[in-house]
Amino acid sequence: MNQLPTFDDVVAASKRIEGHAHRTPVVTSRTVDEAMGAQVFFKCENFQRVGAFKFRGAFNALSKFSAEQKRAGVVAFSSGNHAQAIALSARILGIPATIVMPEDAPAAKVAATEGYGGNVVRYDRYTEDREQIGRDLAEKHGMTLIPSYDHPDVLAGQGTAAMELFEDVDELDALFVCLGGGGLLSGCALAARAMAPDCRIYGVEPEAGNDGQQSFRSGQIVHIDTPKTIADGAQTQYLGKVTFPIIQRDVDDILTASDGELVECMSFLAERMKMVVEPTGCLGFAAARQMKAELQGKRIGVIISGGNVDMARFASLLTS
Ligand SMILES: *Cc1c(COP(=O)(O)O)cnc(C)c1O
Repeated sequence: MNQLPTFDDVVAASKRIEGHAHRTPVVTSRTVDEAMGAQVFFKCENFQRVGAFKFRGAFNALSKFSAEQKRAGVVAFSSGNHAQAIALSARILGIPATIVMPEDAPAAKVAATEGYGGNVVRYDRYTEDREQIGRDLAEKHGMTLIPSYDHPDVLAGQGTAAMELFEDVDELDALFVCLGGGGLLSGCALAARAMAPDCRIYGVEPEAGNDGQQSFRSGQIVHIDTPKTIADGAQTQYLGKVTFPIIQRDVDDILTASDGELVECMSFLAERMKMVVEPTGCLGFAAARQMKAELQGKRIGVIISGGNVDMARFASLLTS
């Protein structure tokens, strides 16, 4: 990557997704503000199309396809929110979509992806390499591979979430963003640096998989084994080649939250704010709660990244 994306790319993305992505609500709660001693603004991507911010980046990336790319189609590998985001964006734009998913992916996720018109190709997680399958499909059929985070158009699209938040609430003292591979965080950092230069930006990842924190502190992309955590949207093993330099330059720190803290936040958000948030979506709020003492009297933004959690799993996590 010789040229990193900039805030202009986020602005351009916001024009492309307008009328297709939801402008999600910014929600506040007196109970939260009293508990935190701060003003907290939640940007609710759990109410985004497909239930997560991933629609923003996927739609932006596919909108930029040439006629030739559109005809040949898109391929993505994901068993999570990126799969549905690509499938729905492709359907809206009339592009054939192939999604590579593990054979043991939850039936509901496969059904949702097929429901959006995606052609699901299954693979064996233990013996096959999904990236290789994706690349082979791309090569053989001329399809364009769109990764879930390490792509300039994907991260620019994700940044529109923070852009809208700053448009709605003006200056913030701190912004907390969930971190997997860093598409959301790097895009939001581009928006924050341009729109609110003094705002501190924190990425938050699962305690069990703190590769982002290690990378940030060592200055090099650190690879780890797939971490065991309930935050399945952030089980990434390494930051991206495009996302990392932006994070390194623009983010103030990377924090972590434990599974126990995520469950506490899920429960709180459900009970007090009537919102279903998936475990990964709670990372930002969990870290803000840890920093309560430093945040007294401040204005803080928290990106709630998604709400896709199976109801039986949601119930069992809340009662565990
Ligand atoms: C993908 C995802 C993340 C992590 O996003 P990255 O861009 O990979 O850092 C966080 N939360 C949810 C709900 C997701 O789907």
